[in-house]
Amino acid sequence: MQRLFEAFKRAGKELYLVGGAVRDLALGVPMVALDDLDFCTNSRPQETLRILKEAGFTTYDVGIEFGTVGCVLYSETEPGYPKDCQVTTYRSAEYYRRGSRHPVVKYGDTIAQDLRRRDFSINSIAMNEAGEFVDPYDGLGDLERRVLRVVSDPLETLAEDPLRILRIGRFVARLGFDVDPDLRRAADERAEHILDISRERWLQEMNKLLLGSEVEAALEFLAEVRILGVILPELAGLKALGGPWSDAMRLVGGAPPELSQRWASVLFSVGAFWARERPGPHAAMLVEGIAKRLTFDNALSLEIRTILAQHQTLTASTSEWTDAAIRRMVRELDPFCAQTLRFARHVDQILGSGDRKEWLGDFETRMADLEKAGNLRPELPRGIGKTIVETFGLKPGPDVGRRKDFLEFSLLDGLIPEAKNAQFYMDYLNEHFRDDAEE
Ligand code: ATP
Ligand code: MG
Repeated sequence: MQRLFEAFKRAGKELYLVGGAVRDLALGVPMVALDDLDFCTNSRPQETLRILKEAGFTTYDVGIEFGTVGCVLYSETEPGYPKDCQVTTYRSAEYYRRGSRHPVVKYGDTIAQDLRRRDFSINSIAMNEAGEFVDPYDGLGDLERRVLRVVSDPLETLAEDPLRILRIGRFVARLGFDVDPDLRRAADERAEHILDISRERWLQEMNKLLLGSEVEAALEFLAEVRILGVILPELAGLKALGGPWSDAMRLVGGAPPELSQRWASVLFSVGAFWARERPGPHAAMLVEGIAKRLTFDNALSLEIRTILAQHQTLTASTSEWTDAAIRRMVRELDPFCAQTLRFARHVDQILGSGDRKEWLGDFETRMADLEKAGNLRPELPRGIGKTIVETFGLKPGPDVGRRKDFLEFSLLDGLIPEAKNAQFYMDYLNEHFRDDAEE
């Protein structure tokens, strides 16, 4: 980091550490624990890029047209590296056109200008090379008082960028701070404006919010200022019901701090209200709509759906399973087997009677035993599909798929061994496979 400061000084440019890193350092988080550093400078983006390159830093593009250049800091002697850095040209203003994912930026000339356009006082502190703070809005005081306050007029600030309402929730979740009363009122007044914000930006903040340690307080805040009813009406609907809401808060807050576990807990809570007995399938059905509204990527929605749809199959079972049944179940859950087990255990711990704990423990022991014996996830030789095509003169398609499935299940059931040559499996097919679809 010292080398970074020196490079800008040599070029006659200013450089400050800003944003979350300064806030976290002021809160006593050690430097090693920070993996994301935001800097700002009075050099323009192309110049920033040149300064970084000439000083030998690894750079990458994050949106040079918005004023930001990415770079990576390495260190052979200090722990906590490599660190990801973004160096951004001072801005005097930054705004988003309605629904847009990308900001329109106006460059500025001074650090004071740049700090003025930021949202909360605690996020508007800069730090220079010597470790001295530039703190025009008493962000350090607010950190001590543990309060979230914006640096200019709350109504105007939130009108300028309504995403900031959601960001209040995110920082409540992260820090557990109080929200300044004027800011809270303004958030309530501006709640509907969140509709002007792109769903990608909603998701980014919601993800961070859900991962916070004070997520219950954050969701309470979002419900109070009515914005939860816009973003997640399914969950907001529980608020008036008392018990289901407090169950939801305990479930989400107590979940392992992983996105899929937290989202699954939100959806499970809604499903639990609709279908007291077996909320899993109901909750899994909710994923589609919410994933679409919030622009989840396919991997995340598939993971959440699997966890929700499957964790009850698991917990409803008995421990009198054969090895084959365990292998079949694992195949069903893969690649989210561990996540599904973790979720089942979590739900049982928070809302259940704890009576599934033993069964889950048994299941995991059985899995571990099979794993140790190298017999949990048996695999067919690579390229077996192609061999089937050639051996039986088939076209790639369902005819091949049925034969492959037949082999896979025979393998899971322990009827045939693993790691034979392809011919062995072809002989087995010849002898045992009857294609129902052809009859
Ligand atoms: P984290 O550690 O979770 O990344 P952060 O404070 O770095 O927290 P970012 O969203 O990465 O949060 O934003 C970096 C900084 O940019 C913030 O600290 C804030 O000063 C400023 N900022 C980001 N988004 C906005 C916004 N919508 N309005 C005003 N300032 C913003
Ligand atoms: Mg950040």
